[in-house]
Amino acid sequence: MTGGRRSFMKTMTVAGAAGAAGFSATEAHTISLPDPSRPAELKISCQEGRIPGETLTDKLDFLEQHGFTGIEPGGKGLSGRVSEFKSALRGREVKVSAICAGFEGVIISEDPAVRRQAVVSMKEIMSAAGEIGSTGLIIVPAFNGRTKLGHVESREILVDLLGELGEHGRSVDSRILLEPLNRNEAFFLRLVADAAAICRDVDDPAICCMGDFWHMTLEESSDLGAIFSGGSLLHHMHIASRKSRKMPGEDEGDNYVDGFRGLKAIGYRDYVSLECGTNGDPRETIPAAAQLIRTQWAQA
Ligand code: MG
Repeated sequence: MTGGRRSFMKTMTVAGAAGAAGFSATEAHTISLPDPSRPAELKISCQEGRIPGETLTDKLDFLEQHGFTGIEPGGKGLSGRVSEFKSALRGREVKVSAICAGFEGVIISEDPAVRRQAVVSMKEIMSAAGEIGSTGLIIVPAFNGRTKLGHVESREILVDLLGELGEHGRSVDSRILLEPLNRNEAFFLRLVADAAAICRDVDDPAICCMGDFWHMTLEESSDLGAIFSGGSLLHHMHIASRKSRKMPGEDEGDNYVDGFRGLKAIGYRDYVSLECGTNGDPRETIPAAAQLIRTQWAQA
């Protein structure tokens, strides 16, 4: 970490100088230096649907047995599952990490009614997410083909509606996590830096962002740079193998050390969550992926 930390400190000095010179953007969002008394922590999570087991209890047992501390449910129907989660999680090490989408509508649709449907649906899931102690609701503004609006108008509408969602998030102890995808899925939002800039413009503590190593492989020029660009706004990570979106380690050469170095440098304490398929038996490939993540985290 020392080399990365030194260069990070240098970056911060440059940013500080720019701020002193009057660039207001650095005041609106400045990457927080890690607090040495609260170092980064690796917390591994997995999406609920990927975990072997018939019931939620079976799945949580499996995760605990293999050292996971997070589970990532989908948002669809979550408000009807609050008591199920509360009772299944009682007394466990595993907590709910982020909630993966599952809302209705499209927040940057050309149709105002479809945008409103998205906002109402997201608020409902955020309320449930807050009740079960989740770190936030993951949203994608629009998959390819889901909006006819151009980039400029889409961004203005998004920033405006995120303001409303941020206010709701603060009232229910939840937050939005903007997820950049890759161009094959969503052209509108593809870089962690772009997600962070949108958060900066909304300027609400309940509007944050995340990274996904799978999408980052196709879009980012540097894992380390992407994570620095998210900085203190980065509150979730998805992880998958880098060529075929299977379990980390299923593709030859899967390497996350550069990204983990970035997470350590920003003092990251949120989850790294498996979002992927597998070619093997998940009872074996999930623990193997967790072990690869732990090994590479130690190397970072
Ligand atoms: Mg993802």
